[in-house]
Amino acid sequence: MDKKEEVICERCNGTGFITDEKSHQDVCPVCLGLGTIIQNKEKITLTHSKSGLKKNVIWTLIALSIYYVIFFFFYIRGDLNILATVVILIAGHMAAISYIVGYMIIKSLPRL
Ligand SMILES: [Zn+2]
Repeated sequence: MDKKEEVICERCNGTGFITDEKSHQDVCPVCLGLGTIIQNKEKITLTHSKSGLKKNVIWTLIALSIYYVIFFFFYIRGDLNILATVVILIAGHMAAISYIVGYMIIKSLPRL
């Protein structure tokens, strides 16, 4: 079930017509002369959370990159044994995955 809302067209301010640089009047291409457009509220919310998610994914990838640099630094030095290597790798990925999943769960919850 979509929540739809009729809003005044921003392009023509509800007149249904636009005036171009040559003072020529034309039918508004956004609302097709209606003056109002139907906006899907759910769709807008989804787009917003998607851009927020994208930002979070990028930050997680940056954090992972730093994590790998630190990890390989100690790995090459030979400070880590096999067990420590496996534990650190799994823990790092689990943290990244749970962060993204946790973010998605919080975002999908209805706003109070
Ligand atoms: Zn319009």
